[in-house]
Amino acid sequence: MDFSLLEFVPDAMVIVDQGDGRIVYLNQVAEDLFGYRRQELLGRPVEVLLPSRFREAHRGHREAYGAAPRTRPMGLGLDLYGLRKDGQEFRAEVSLSPLLGDGARYAITAIRDVGERRKVEERARLYRQAQQEVRRRDEFLSIASHELRTPVAALQLQLQMLHRVAERATEPLPRTLVEKVEALERQTRRVTVLVNELLDVSRMRLGRLELRLEAMDLAELARESVRQLEEELRRSGSRIAVSAEAPAPGRWDRLRLEQVLTNLLVNATKFGEGRPIAVTVQAADGLASLTVADQGIGIPPEHQERIFARFERAASAEHYGGLGLGLYIAREIVEAHGGRIRLASAPGLGSTFTVELPQSPPSRPPPPQAPQARGPKPEA
Ligand code: ADP
Repeated sequence: MDFSLLEFVPDAMVIVDQGDGRIVYLNQVAEDLFGYRRQELLGRPVEVLLPSRFREAHRGHREAYGAAPRTRPMGLGLDLYGLRKDGQEFRAEVSLSPLLGDGARYAITAIRDVGERRKVEERARLYRQAQQEVRRRDEFLSIASHELRTPVAALQLQLQMLHRVAERATEPLPRTLVEKVEALERQTRRVTVLVNELLDVSRMRLGRLELRLEAMDLAELARESVRQLEEELRRSGSRIAVSAEAPAPGRWDRLRLEQVLTNLLVNATKFGEGRPIAVTVQAADGLASLTVADQGIGIPPEHQERIFARFERAASAEHYGGLGLGLYIAREIVEAHGGRIRLASAPGLGSTFTVELPQSPPSRPPPPQAPQARGPKPEA
């Protein structure tokens, strides 16, 4: 009989003579699947294509099929395996159809290697599970940081009150006491920043960053943010020069931009090695720009994109504290305004961060993109 039509079938096809169970035909896909050349298989019992532990049972099934042939899948509910010439087994899906011709009865067998498909399905399942777990982690982070915020804020308030009481005390308090209260305040401020960073990042991951746009001046905000960080700057030893004479008006979220600025300034003091820091604000052609330039440790080129991702840091944790969230949050905020943040840096020479903001951001800020769709931002 001429079976050559089966050459064009995309599945592996093996035709077996039901009388003696020998292979009378196989197509090219079957040759490739089992790793044999056609001549090696023709005339051999079909059981050579099965792992030996199934052969005996298969002979029985084959005879039963011969008695009542019909089109059906093989081994419903069972795991079927094929055996390649090199001894490797694979999970197979097999369907059978009877064929009469030339006075003989044949069984047409279509075989599909489902091992690969199962692997793909398994990978997809693991991916979905990982996504779910990441989401649960973000939700946990959001709840935990929210819960932490209240006691930390209360602590901060108590310390501020203590500070005020100390200032107003009629008799001077011991110097160590005052210093300890100041240190406690500093540490509490630091905890507040970290807790807020965690809260922000979990909100951003859950797509809940909302902007409250208002008319404001970026130059004024820069001066104000520097004033607020006076003490931190003093402690770092860096002098800071603000060049923001002309107003840079725009419609932005004041608190969020203050957060961006504060983060850039704190980083400049943290990594600035006590050298001068320059802050510049300008506006032209509908675009306001702000730069924070330090002359500190700098960032090697291979880390310059990475540090904008969550939890990514380029400096040694031993020398510099931080969660690696500040720049991620800064970029999310700037991009939510329709702007961008850039970095120019050379190790040992310093870093310049530039924030560019449209003076009137798009009326509907772009929704935060799915993290996996964002080019070089690796997943944590
Ligand atoms: P954090 O400061 O909490 O580590 P950030 O996201 O603000 O997190 O910064 C990520 C990393 O980028 C820092 O750990 C540091 O390695 C690098 N970096 C940021 N700003 C500077 C800077 N001005 N100079 C040198 N390195 C910097």
